[in-house]
Amino acid sequence: MYGASQSAVKDNLTTLKWLPKSDGETLKIQSVNGVAAKLEQVSKELDELPPALKKYVIDTSGTFNWRVISGTDRLSNHSFAIAIDINTKHADYWQWAKGGYAYKNSIPHEIVEIFEKHGFIWGGKWYHYDTMHFEYRPELLMN
Ligand SMILES: [Zn+2]
Repeated sequence: MYGASQSAVKDNLTTLKWLPKSDGETLKIQSVNGVAAKLEQVSKELDELPPALKKYVIDTSGTFNWRVISGTDRLSNHSFAIAIDINTKHADYWQWAKGGYAYKNSIPHEIVEIFEKHGFIWGGKWYHYDTMHFEYRPELLMN
């Protein structure tokens, strides 16, 4: 649906001004299936947050990146440009945890709720948690 190869995905990408009121960056995002439009709605809502919350989302770590999930041979949803990583500075990732698995998160629930409202799922809810990661998977929220 989103493109079977890196070049096919690239043909479906559009650009989006992230947090325009807050001088955010320009992101590449999937246009198929309304993904870009949904992320734009998320961006508009995040743009209204107070600075104490906005610091978690203002510098992103990107959207489109054709790659497999670390330690697997499955393509990451970043390959299809349907995922975004927010600011790594405040992120926790299961593989970074020293001395075995221990769940950690510092992303405020206000931010998670805005993404979820628009059909994104949060990597912070996975067993193999990745708290900076959100991906557009409306089918998973409708169950
Ligand atoms: Zn990610």
